[in-house]
Amino acid sequence: MSSLLITNARIIDPVSGTDAVGDVAIADGLIAAVAPRRGSNAAGLSRSGAERVIDAEGLILTPGLIDPHVHLREPGGEDAETIATGTAAAVSGGFTSVCCMPNTNPPLDDDSMIEFVYRQAERTAHCRVFPVGAVSIGRKGEELAELMLMAAAGAVGFSDDGDCVASAGLMAKALTYIRPTGLALMQHCQEASLTRGASMHAGSVAMRLGLIGWPRVAEEVIIERDVRLNRAIGCRYHVQHLSSGGSVEIVRRARREGQPVSAEASPHHLLLTHEEVETGGGGGGYWTAAKMNPPLRERSDIDAILEGVADGTITVLATDHAPHTPERKAMDFDSAPFGIIGLETALALYIEALITPGVIDWPRLVAMMTIEPSRLCRLDRLDATGGAVPSAALGLGQLHVGGAGDVTLIDPAMEWTVTPDSLAGRSRNTPFLGRRVKGRAVATIVGGEVRADRLAERSKPLRAAAGV
Ligand SMILES: [Zn+2]
Repeated sequence: MSSLLITNARIIDPVSGTDAVGDVAIADGLIAAVAPRRGSNAAGLSRSGAERVIDAEGLILTPGLIDPHVHLREPGGEDAETIATGTAAAVSGGFTSVCCMPNTNPPLDDDSMIEFVYRQAERTAHCRVFPVGAVSIGRKGEELAELMLMAAAGAVGFSDDGDCVASAGLMAKALTYIRPTGLALMQHCQEASLTRGASMHAGSVAMRLGLIGWPRVAEEVIIERDVRLNRAIGCRYHVQHLSSGGSVEIVRRARREGQPVSAEASPHHLLLTHEEVETGGGGGGYWTAAKMNPPLRERSDIDAILEGVADGTITVLATDHAPHTPERKAMDFDSAPFGIIGLETALALYIEALITPGVIDWPRLVAMMTIEPSRLCRLDRLDATGGAVPSAALGLGQLHVGGAGDVTLIDPAMEWTVTPDSLAGRSRNTPFLGRRVKGRAVATIVGGEVRADRLAERSKPLRAAAGV
């Protein structure tokens, strides 16, 4: 029997409302005890019998972090990332579960491809991997994919991410078919006729650089349309990587009307503006590390997104981890691919964007990285097989006895610099290289196994370890 005891941590579990110092025991891959120090429990859990004891004084203990939007590039893009390297990046960043998008080659658009991801993850992954199935065959936006078969094979949501489900007719059909599965349709909101040839936000920088601009309205009209289409259908509808202040307003209104609409924000859209394209990376302009889809926008958009996070309009944080090889990102600005990596920097960047300025507190940040994405992808009801079976036995995103032993230990005070050597994934395409940040996962525990361990580097050495 394998067992792990973590003592003296600040335990934050939004589901049970726990925020207190205490101990957590994990045995045989499952949470065996959660013991915040209150009243009669002041002594904590017994150390006897534990194979490994981690003194987590000064650390925050959360349910394992979950990223509902990553690109693992396997199959077809293994030169940029694989399920093995992408999940190495995930555990390095504190994530114990990731949901991978279907824009692989071939795409994840039938049950055999969903099964492929589960099989490959079983063999090579460092954390749990849950595939999102394509909405349309080949992600072409023409015919619906076999949604029911994919749901039965364990798809945890549906998206044509990388592309928008452009046809209103197909969208209405997709919402109708997906609704009975209980899963969410995750939309990449981009009206393609408004973004033809565009590579960055439509604003002053694009004008100066002579680049075709990508207007906010390209995102907003799709959300507005989908919300209206869905009014009579009632499918769960999720807006991926929202970038425009106007989008926040549409989502807020839909949620106030009681519609099953949710939205996610990504680290870069919380911190960076379109000016990065001109001034970042040495200031030569046309910096492809700042090229992403949807594009970086303006300070007013960041402020609106922060307000949306603060008032609960935006409930989910997601990295949109999008690895690319250096060769491809070295192309000219218009030709280079969109996207940046995010799994290893996300936690520190969320702290910088949301905790440090007081937009939200730690329990809310933890909820937005654990139980909220878990509910989005219905990982809160997984059974032990990993299939999407309605049982709470292994429910992810919370700390409950008998549930999965997935836990992240965070050192909120650890300062570090984002360098190529500090990252574990295969690609290095991020505009945050060189940034000094604060806060890092120091242990990522998946099913009771410590998969990433930098406990020795923690900011406040233990008294015993320091030899006092
Ligand atoms: Zn997308």
